[in-house]
Amino acid sequence: MKKHAAAMLAPLAGHTPRKRFGQNFLVDPGVIAAILAAIDPRPQDVLVEIGPGLGALTEPLLARLAHLHVIEIDRDLIERLKKRHAPERLSIHAGDALAFDFASLGANLRVVGNLPYNISTPLLFHLAAHAEHLRDMHFMLQKEVVERMVAAPGESAYGRLSVMLQYRFALEWLIDVPPESFDPPPKVQSAVVRLVPKPKAALTARDPERFAQIVTAAFSQRRKMLRNTLKDLFGEAELESLGIPPTARAEALSLTDFVRLANVGRYI
Ligand code: SAM
Repeated sequence: MKKHAAAMLAPLAGHTPRKRFGQNFLVDPGVIAAILAAIDPRPQDVLVEIGPGLGALTEPLLARLAHLHVIEIDRDLIERLKKRHAPERLSIHAGDALAFDFASLGANLRVVGNLPYNISTPLLFHLAAHAEHLRDMHFMLQKEVVERMVAAPGESAYGRLSVMLQYRFALEWLIDVPPESFDPPPKVQSAVVRLVPKPKAALTARDPERFAQIVTAAFSQRRKMLRNTLKDLFGEAELESLGIPPTARAEALSLTDFVRLANVGRYI
C-alpha cells in the first residue's frame, strides 16, 4: 500500500497532532479505499467510528451511509467536525471511547477506527464485553497487537489477548500498512483486522468471569508451569484428570483447553 508522497492526502490543515491522543492521521488514499472496501458500508448500517480525527475515514463513510456516529476525545477536532457536518448526518459523542456505553447505540452495531495505539488493548477488552451488541468491527492497530490477537498456541505472541478475543470473535488479518501511510508516521508497522462476534452457541464457558480469571492467572507469569500459576484454582491431580500436564505452560493450552478448565469443579 506504499504510495509516492505526491499521491498522499494532506489533511492536517493547521492541526497540530497530539501525541497523547495517538494522533497519526491516515493520508494514503489506497489504504483508505482498501479499508472502505473491507467494511463495505451499506446506507442503513448503524456504524460508529472511534477517533474520527480529521476525517480520513469519516468522509468516505459518510458518503456511503445515511448516518454515522463518531466518538472523539480531542475538543479541537470535535469543533472541526461540528463545522463540517450536520447533526442529522453525524452524531458526535465527545469523550473517551474507553468509557463509552456501546450498548446505548442498539443492536447489530458496526464499529470501525484507526485506533489510538496507546489505548487499543483496553479498548478491545471493553468492546469484547459488549460483543452481543456488535455485528462486526474493523480496526487499524499496531501490527504487533494484531499478531498477538490472531496468534495460535505455541507461538510467542500467544497470550491473554489471543485467548480472550478468539473466545468471543472470529478474527481476520486484512492488510498491512506501513508508517508512510500516516502523517505523522508512527514508529511501528500497522495492520487492519476484522472481528466478527461468534454465535452465542459457540460461547461454551458456563461462567465467562471464571474463564477470564483462569486465562489471566495462567498467563500472569508465562514462563511458569500451570501447576504454579493455577495453584489457587486447581490441584495437580485435577489438571491431570483433564488431560492437562501440570508441568505445561499457558502457551501450550488451546482455547478449548481453557474452556474445559473453566467448566470443571464447582461449575459441573
Ligand atoms: N481516524 C483518523 C485517521 O484515520 O486519520 C484519526 C486516527 S488517530 C490514529 C486516533 C484518533 O483517536 C484521534 O482523532 C484521537 O484524537 C482520537 N482518540 C484518542 N484517544 C481517544 C479516546 N480515548 N477516545 C476517543 N477518541 C480518541
